[in-house]
Amino acid sequence: MNVIFVGFVVILGAIIGSFLNVVIARYNTGMSFLSGRSMCFSCGKTLVWYELIPVVSFLAQRGRCRSCTSAISRQYLLVELFTAAVFVAVFLKDLSVAVIAYHLMVFSALVVIGVYDFKHKIIPDGAVYFFITLSFVGLLFVHSGYVALPMIDAPLLRDFVGGPLIALPFAGLWYFSKGAWIGFGDAKLALGMGWFLGLEQAFFAVTIASWIGAAVGIVLIALGKIPGVSARFRHFTAKSEIAFGPFLIIGTLAVFFFDINPLILVIR
Ligand SMILES: [Zn+2]
Repeated sequence: MNVIFVGFVVILGAIIGSFLNVVIARYNTGMSFLSGRSMCFSCGKTLVWYELIPVVSFLAQRGRCRSCTSAISRQYLLVELFTAAVFVAVFLKDLSVAVIAYHLMVFSALVVIGVYDFKHKIIPDGAVYFFITLSFVGLLFVHSGYVALPMIDAPLLRDFVGGPLIALPFAGLWYFSKGAWIGFGDAKLALGMGWFLGLEQAFFAVTIASWIGAAVGIVLIALGKIPGVSARFRHFTAKSEIAFGPFLIIGTLAVFFFDINPLILVIR
């Protein structure tokens, strides 16, 4: 990839990231994702075009509304930058246009799920069903780097059972804890992960998610116990709810982009 092309992908990613921010902000509010002008959440002023340029307008305005100077959430900037980075990673990894487009949709859905779950501790149904549908379609048509012909590259039974097998433990935890340890949304996300990554890689993604989730939990609880540390961490205890979805998605990204597959089984 040459520099101009990378620049193009970065801009595309930032624009899509900007749209994903709108989806995250408007999900479950009854507002349309596609119509209705963006406005400041504090003063309600409709934003003009140069206030809508991804990344640039946030930086130029130093993260504040031009009318009322109230702070704009850093989430907007972070999601735009993160989506741009993921898009570059997809273009670096994939070869065919169809597979690239497919993966851009998959990871856009995961950005929405991860950020929304982080903010509201619930996985949005629309985004996770979109992800599950894509991952199932991918089983039939998309193999890494190329679009498969279903007649030749027919998926095997183990590809189909990958999703349910990864989802089952999550569904069990949800059922037996009556939703206290984990939400049912995590089981839905895991179903998509199993189909998207395949059984072994999805298993490893869940393992990575658990390690990182446990490490973050321990750090947050420890910070809450140290006197003098910012009051933001004071309320974290062993009983605090931390959304697990973002960790599952970090695990998925890590396994997918770094091609981690510790258990290459040659059964097929
Ligand atoms: Zn304002």
